[in-house]
Amino acid sequence: MKKPLVIGVTGGIGSGKSTVCNAFVSLGIPVIDTDQVARDVVVPGSAGLAAVATAFGADVLSAEGTLDRVALRRIVFSDPQRRRELESILHPRIRARVAELLQEITAPYCLLGIPLLVEGGKKNQQVERVLVVDCPEEIQIARVMARDKLTEQEVAAIMQTQATREERLSVADDVVTNSSDLAIVQHQVNALHARYLALAEHR
Ligand code: ADP
Repeated sequence: MKKPLVIGVTGGIGSGKSTVCNAFVSLGIPVIDTDQVARDVVVPGSAGLAAVATAFGADVLSAEGTLDRVALRRIVFSDPQRRRELESILHPRIRARVAELLQEITAPYCLLGIPLLVEGGKKNQQVERVLVVDCPEEIQIARVMARDKLTEQEVAAIMQTQATREERLSVADDVVTNSSDLAIVQHQVNALHARYLALAEHR
């Protein structure tokens, strides 16, 4: 069977990645969420969680045996070497699981949601095109304040840790502008759907 064309979807927090992915799902296109995969590879009983506990100690496990993300974040937050160590445990497992999920796809193309695709630096080997969901920063802030019940300062602090709008747009093959109503998002998604089907067909 022909492999699906893989479109990486990225965008800043609150730009509308989930909203755009849902618009593709409504057209029957499968979406793999790498944030979800990152959680799946460290579920209790997994080899991933065992490897993290071996490297970082039992302090990163909760009483119920789940990963204590807050404790882990505290360790890696200000220590780039430990962060790289964590990534060297998680990234190969995430890649392998994504590869398995891709094998199961029968649609001509699919989306792979990677919130921090640009921040990851080197080109992601598993995606052939990059779709950036873009909106002005004021709108991003207002959406995240409403969705996550955060203050403007808290949202701004998260955005500080992410790539800038310009950095993201500079790697985009395609862009969905999500700065007005949802009908306009669906309209752009419909046009991209036609383009991706044609690209998948002709490659
Ligand atoms: P992301 O996945 O990039 O963090 P979401 O898709 O969750 O962003 O969107 C952030 C919030 O803004 C959500 O609560 C969503 O329902 C809302 N939202 C996104 N796009 C629109 C839009 N065009 N109009 C109104 N609300 C929107």
